[in-house]
Amino acid sequence: MKGVNNLKKFFLEERSTGVHLKKQLLKNQLMWIFYKEGNKSISELCSLTNNSIPTITNIIIELTNEGWVLNYGISNSTGGRKPTIFGLNPNAAYILGIDLSRRYTNIGLFDLHNNMIGEMMQLSEGLSNSDTILPTIKEAVDKILNIHQLDRDVVLGSGVAIPGIFNIRDGVSYSYPIFGGSPVKQTFEELLNMNVYIEHDTRTMALGEQWFGLAGDYDNALFINIGSGIGLSMILNGELYKGRSGYSGEFGHIQMVPEGDLCYCGRIGCLETVASGTAIVHRAKEMILKGKNSIISRITHNNPEAINLKTVISAANSGDLLSIELLEEAAEFLAKGVSTLIHLFNPDAVIIGGEMAEAGNLIKDPVKQKIGKYTILQLKQDSQILVSGLHERAGILGTLPVVMSNTFYQLNNQNEHIKIN
Ligand SMILES: [Zn+2]
Repeated sequence: MKGVNNLKKFFLEERSTGVHLKKQLLKNQLMWIFYKEGNKSISELCSLTNNSIPTITNIIIELTNEGWVLNYGISNSTGGRKPTIFGLNPNAAYILGIDLSRRYTNIGLFDLHNNMIGEMMQLSEGLSNSDTILPTIKEAVDKILNIHQLDRDVVLGSGVAIPGIFNIRDGVSYSYPIFGGSPVKQTFEELLNMNVYIEHDTRTMALGEQWFGLAGDYDNALFINIGSGIGLSMILNGELYKGRSGYSGEFGHIQMVPEGDLCYCGRIGCLETVASGTAIVHRAKEMILKGKNSIISRITHNNPEAINLKTVISAANSGDLLSIELLEEAAEFLAKGVSTLIHLFNPDAVIIGGEMAEAGNLIKDPVKQKIGKYTILQLKQDSQILVSGLHERAGILGTLPVVMSNTFYQLNNQNEHIKIN
């Protein structure tokens, strides 16, 4: 049988009191250590949690009997007596990642070792399909669980990445009325009948980068999500920065062109009006309608309406001059914006991600080159400009630590030192 049969019990015990609560909190803490740092010996767990060998041994025996933890045998570390190491049972439970965007939705099922089970499901509907998207997601989740013959009870939770203005204090999306002003978490928990944790899409991408990608080694990394819009997420001192209501990172709406175009946000000349995927596609259509020669026309069978950011990037990657110029034009404005970020934060790295990551060096090189014009030398030298290697998987991967930290870490965070005597 897949999954542990007492998942429900694990959560019920969270609400217990006294010694039971302490024990449960210590179990949570060990689960989080295994998830974050990998397999450990009993003595390593003792020093990490400041507990005695008998206490940790007992808890590990319980977690092993419950199916959460596996004995991974003798460690192959060199020197001294080699200890037995323990770690998470990858099939003890599963996590569903749901990465929502305006135009599409990615869904993936993962084990507790972050391995995707089967393929990522890509739905061609997103939040703009307001009438159908929620039932479509429910149907897709049911289908995934069915294919893998998993019961809902073995899903630890679902992490949902959501774009737009999402308020972390009341849990409401102010960009998408399809949730009817209700907390998004509640809507999804009722829809999917499981625990759901919501995070802003650009922040999940940054988490994906921090846990599985380029930001892992850095305490201070800025992640810029360039797709149809432009978002920013900041990892500062190793922590994801959110701001008062979670509204931080509206980098796309700083003004770039004082007499520029009207932005959908209601203001004039925002960065998004000149450097987002939407802006680049708009320029591409304009130039092609003016008769500019480009392989974009061939790729889209002479239908300007079929042009999207992917088309422009793939044309640029094939050496198309117009597309390369369009990316360079966008890079000029991005460089101005990134220069401001570097002056403000002195980050270790600025990572360009989202759909734009497909452009690789064709976006990185011009941004890097143009940043020199706007940035104080010492600050420029301190910050690396990188392009995400996770591509479209960054967001969905980032939902995994969201679910795991909400399940095993957040509760403990309020009871920092758990010591059982
Ligand atoms: Zn704007």
